[in-house]
Amino acid sequence: MIKIRRQKRVRNFRNAWAAALAVSMAWTAAASAADCPRKGTLGTSRLLRVDAATTPQVGLKSFPQTLPLGDHEVVLTFDDGPWPPATKKVLAALAQECVRATFFLIGKPASEHPELVRRIAADGHTVGHHTWLHPSLMRIPPNEAKEEIDRGIAADEMALHGVATTVPSTPFFRFPGFESTPATLDLLQSRGIVVFGADLWASDWNPMTPKQELKLITARLKIARRGIILFHDPKAHTAAMLPAFLRYLRDNHYRVVHVVPAAVGVYFDGVP
Ligand SMILES: [Zn+2]
Repeated sequence: MIKIRRQKRVRNFRNAWAAALAVSMAWTAAASAADCPRKGTLGTSRLLRVDAATTPQVGLKSFPQTLPLGDHEVVLTFDDGPWPPATKKVLAALAQECVRATFFLIGKPASEHPELVRRIAADGHTVGHHTWLHPSLMRIPPNEAKEEIDRGIAADEMALHGVATTVPSTPFFRFPGFESTPATLDLLQSRGIVVFGADLWASDWNPMTPKQELKLITARLKIARRGIILFHDPKAHTAAMLPAFLRYLRDNHYRVVHVVPAAVGVYFDGVP
C-alpha cells in the first residue's frame, strides 16, 4: 500500500513536471516574435503607413486630428526606453501575443543599450525618437531644442544601424511631456518627421499597481473605443500589467494597428 502510494506520488510528480516543462517550452516558443503570426494570439491586424505630408501631427492630446483608426482599433506606443529589464518584459509580452508596437526611444539609454534597441527592431516594432535626454523642449532655447532632437535621433540610428545620422530611418518623433513649440513643430515638419501625440494613456508615470493601471486604461479605452495609447516601457508596473491588457484587447475584440513610415518596404509579414 505504501509502495503504491509512493509510486503514485512519483507518477504525479513526473506528470506535474512534464506539464510544467510543456508550459515552459510553449512559453519559450510563444515568446519569440519570429513565430508570428500564430493562431490563438491577439496579433497585429493591419499596417498603417503614416506620412508627414498628409498627417504631420497626430494625437488628440495635443492636436485637433489623429490617425484614421476604425472603431476598436488601437496603436500601442511605449516611451522613454530602452530600459532593461522592464523593456525586455514588454517585448516578451508583445511577442507572446504577436503584437507590434512603436517605441519612442531616448537617445542616451539607446546609446547605452544598443543590443536592446536592435532587439526591438528585430522583433518587428517601429522605432521612433524622443530626444537625447528628455528635457522639456519648451523650457530650453531653440538651438538646444534642435540639438536634443538631432542628438537623440543620431544615437538611436547609431544603435540601430551603426551610423550616427540625424536623418531618421523612421521619421516619427514624440515630444517629452507633449511639450512642443511652434518653432520645433515647424522644424520637424520641414524635415518630414511625423509628430506623435497620443489619444489616451495609462498615466503610468504615477506610482500604481499593475491592477490599478489595467483598470484605469481599460476604463479610458471603453470611453475612447480607439486611438493611440501611450505607455512607458521602463515602468515595472506597465511591464507587469501588459500581458493582462493584451488579453483584455483580445477578449474584447480590439484590433492592434501597427504604424510604419510611408516609405517602408512593400510587405511586413505578408500584410500589404
Ligand atoms: Zn517621455
